[in-house]
Parts: sequence; structure tokens; C-alpha cells
Amino acid sequence: MAAMKLGILLLATMLSAAPLSQSPTPAVFTKAMAERPDVRAALGYIDANFDKQVAEWITLTEIPALSTHEEKRAAYVMAELAKIPGLEVSKDEIGNITVIRRGTGGGPTLVMAAHMDTVHPMDADLKVKKLPDGTLHAPGIFDNTASVANALQTLRAMNAAKIRTKGDIYYVFTVQEELGLKGMYYWFDHHPNLATMIVASDGGLPDVNYGALGIYWSKMKFTAPGAHTLNSRNQPHPARAAAACITGIYSIPLPPASDPVPVIYNVGMMGGGTVVNAIAPENWFTVDLRTIDPALLQQFDAQIMAQCTAAAAAFGVTFTREFIQKSEAGGRPETLAPRLAHPIVRTPIEVLKYLDMTAITTPTGSTDANVGIVHNVPSVSIGRAKGGNQHSLSEWADEASAKFGAQSLLLIVIALAELANPG
Ligand SMILES: [Zn+2]
Repeated sequence: MAAMKLGILLLATMLSAAPLSQSPTPAVFTKAMAERPDVRAALGYIDANFDKQVAEWITLTEIPALSTHEEKRAAYVMAELAKIPGLEVSKDEIGNITVIRRGTGGGPTLVMAAHMDTVHPMDADLKVKKLPDGTLHAPGIFDNTASVANALQTLRAMNAAKIRTKGDIYYVFTVQEELGLKGMYYWFDHHPNLATMIVASDGGLPDVNYGALGIYWSKMKFTAPGAHTLNSRNQPHPARAAAACITGIYSIPLPPASDPVPVIYNVGMMGGGTVVNAIAPENWFTVDLRTIDPALLQQFDAQIMAQCTAAAAAFGVTFTREFIQKSEAGGRPETLAPRLAHPIVRTPIEVLKYLDMTAITTPTGSTDANVGIVHNVPSVSIGRAKGGNQHSLSEWADEASAKFGAQSLLLIVIALAELANPG
């Protein structure tokens, strides 16, 4: 995601204007926390067991987990969680795994999310190849299998070092993230008012994303009774309505390219009809609309809908819209600016600094953290490793960087959930 420049001050709107929830505010990470003996032991555990972490990362990557087909990967995660004492583990109807590591009391409730699903087909070649330059190559190795391996390792490390936190820590291994964050939306709906903060592990190191890109995926459908070509004169015509609507959509002016908050849309798929010699009873196309500004998201969606409604009327057909994905927008950079001072953003920045990395903060994002952001729960997404080409067959990750991924995750979790006295 490209960083977005700070821009023109607009009145704050809707969700993004509400204050952040104020329930127990954790301290920002400090070096002293990392240097406590128990925390050093946990970091040392990750260091000493990094070869096992990499082996598990490879094992996980080679288990196919296309969105909605995460069962086998989830079974592996469940089996590993069962070996870690003291955790409460459960699985919900759609396949999200929830782990609770209880705190000693009086701290915030921290929710850590890592999605298990990938975009890669179940029959894709997922065999991981290690290159001499220290990189690992396989579809899904980076997005988001590295996070799942990191998360498991931090749970083991906390136990090995007997780390106690005041707050309860929830680890949610989500499903269907790649289908519009469906797993996390489901989880959040079933755990309302629980999370004080949400940290999603997703994206590359050293990213810290504290905003949410709004994404509406719509399927626009135009229907009519249909008619043979010979009888088609002046009949209701779904294909003509769809064509007129697409033309209309592309006549909607976009903000100038220099605008600090871009809006973009795209008609990516079209279909309908089965024969050459008849008006099709249905023609459809898809629209992908994106912006971080909630007001602009509504405004452009309304304009697109108006084009479709007008086109349907002009050609005498019925118009319906089906949402394929509906992820709300988190807010403009100036609206989100106060969040930069919150421990949810300060802590990952300070942790990365402690590990000799400089955070790249952006007021956007497209991860499970979005669900918290649009519900006004302080939330952030953090990187899991260095890598690239995600969602492609040439996906890769830097092996050594995953150690920093796991260690930074551990430090962020213990800081935000507040360290208690050693147990
Ligand atoms: Zn991801």
C-alpha cells in the first residue's frame, strides 16, 4: 500500500470522528520491558528455536488453505495449540480459531489476529524452495503463513519464559481474510465490546498501518424476460443497460490524481447470456470501489448506483446490486492523526526501533485490523517478515527476517497487554 500524504482538513465524518475507547490504556513499550529477565528469556527462546520456527513455517505453507478451505491448516494449528499448556482454545462455526491466554487481571484485553487463508488454489504447487540468498519461495509463504508461524512461536515463548500479563490476550487465527475480512468481521460480531485493542499480523516489515482502506465490491445485475433477435426490437435489454451503466460510471469525475486521498474504481468482470441469437435475460458486471474516506466511499457508491438505476430505467430492465465484499473505510489521514499518539501505534514504532528497524506508518491498510478500526477500537496491522510478490506464484519471504517478525510481535503483545510481575 502506498503511503498517503497528509492532506486538506475536512470535517471529520461518521465512525472516524468518534473518540477512541478509553478503557485501560496501556503503557507504550520501553526498553526496560524488553530487558526484564522473563522477556529476555522469551526473546532468547525465539532466537534459540528459530530453526524450528522456520520448519513449521514451511510445513504450514505446504498445507493448502484457499479461503473457505482452511480446515487442514486449521487442524495443524489446533494440534500445536493443544501442546501449549494453559491456553483456552476453541473454533467457531466458520473456522476461526480463538486462543485465550488469561492475564492476572486489571489489564486491557488485547486481540491479536493472523489470517490462515491464502488466495492460492488447493492444487497449486506449494513446495517451498530455499535459495542460497536466504529467501524462501512458495505461494502463501509471505501472506500470511509467516504470521501464523510467528504467532504460534510467541505463545510458546511466553510459556517457556513464564511471562504473565495483566490483560487477557486473545489470539485469533482467522479464516476468509482474503474474501473481504469475512472471518474477522464474523469474529468481531460474536465478541462485541471485548477488545480494548486489536493487532493484526499481516504485511511486510517494518510496516505499521493504522488506517483502513474502504473496499466495496459489487456485482451489478440487469435482468429482463429476454427475446429472440427477430423479436428484439425495442425490447428491454440487459446488455444495453449494463453497457450504458459502465459508460456512465466512467463518466463520474474522480478527484485529481494529486488529491491526498485517492478514490479509484474498476469494472473488472462482465458476463451474461448463453446464445448469440437472443437478448440475454441477465447481464452483469463487477465494480471494485476503494478509498480511505468514509464520506467519499458513500458518495461514489451512490453515484455508481445512480448510473445503474438510470441505465436500467432507460432500457426497461430490472437492476439489482449484490455486495461481494463490503469493508468500510477508516478515515482520512487528518482524522486519524491523533491515533499516532496512541500506544497501539507508538508501541510497534518503539518495538521496531528497539530491534533496529524504522517503522513505516501509513493511515491505510487492508487487513483484519480494519474491522477494529471501523468499529473504533484502537487497531493496527504490523509486518510479519520481509518479502514480496504476495498473491502471486512467485511469492517469497526473507527467512531471517521472520525472527524479527516473531520477536517484534512478542514485544508488542507483552507491552500492550501489560506485563505483570513474573509468575
Ligand atoms: Zn494478508
